Amino acid sequence: MAIKAIVAGAAGRMGRTIINLIFQNKDIDLVGAFEHPEHPSVGKDVGEVVGLPKTGIIIENALEKVIEKGEVIIDFTFHKASLEHARINAKYKKAMVIGTTGFKKEELAEIYELAQKHFPLVQAYNMSLGVNLLYKLVEITAKTLGEDYDIEIVEAHHRMKKDAPSGTALKLAEVIAKTLGRSEKEFKFCREGIIGERTSKEIGIQTVRGGDIVGEHTVLFAGMGERVELIHRASSRETFARGAIRAALWVVGKNPGVYDMQDVLGLK
Ligand code: NAD
Repeated sequence: MAIKAIVAGAAGRMGRTIINLIFQNKDIDLVGAFEHPEHPSVGKDVGEVVGLPKTGIIIENALEKVIEKGEVIIDFTFHKASLEHARINAKYKKAMVIGTTGFKKEELAEIYELAQKHFPLVQAYNMSLGVNLLYKLVEITAKTLGEDYDIEIVEAHHRMKKDAPSGTALKLAEVIAKTLGRSEKEFKFCREGIIGERTSKEIGIQTVRGGDIVGEHTVLFAGMGERVELIHRASSRETFARGAIRAALWVVGKNPGVYDMQDVLGLK
């Protein structure tokens, strides 16, 4: 039997891509979709909004209008909205996949606490298979090259992206910090003016924004006489949407708790 899915932010870039893929996948059915109450797509047929024939599913203006129909909520919206959806879902206990980025620490902590008590959640700042492999490769490289190499992360995204640095860049920095026993205090987000010599412990995180770049992450290990660069380039949002659907199929029926893409992809 196909899994019944609800898509939050149905008219957004990710929402539309996910809905298109759901209609191509026999293991998952769209049973509900909703948007921000002021979004012009509210009240329209989902198909009309995502470039498909009419589906008979109308975009509603709130999660509560559709939540009872579904088994899993797929949410790529906005940090405050995803937190609100998790709060609502604490009562309904549906599985959740949250791909939203830009959370404040306390917001994500509250989502995790709700999930641990009430529902299974897959949360990941990047749902692509390649980036989840990159986390592993970065861990191995940091372990191997260790303290003698300066580590810098450069991320690039389209001009519409609202948060910076990307959640993926932060996750990459966390993987490196954990591997080398460093703390977040060593993250260096910007450099300007007479900044003095680089410390060997800092982990640089730099942001580029422009055009329609879907998402690029480079992790640079610069030593004396050589450097190693690990690069991931997403060329289409489909890679994230495919990951989200894989996560949705995996998370239904799991015990309450917080899972990530490493769990979904069996990379742990
Ligand atoms: P977008 O702005 O195109 O879409 C977001 C949609 O959410 C909009 O249509 C907006 O109206 C809607 N929304 C906002 N508040 C809402 C609410 N309260 N209820 C319902 N809908 C609401 O952005 P996007 O490019 O689709 O990205 C969305 C989020 O996903 C961002 O945080 C982005 O960084 C993240 N993202 C994550 C991954 C990943 O793999 N985890 C990949 C791409 C994007």
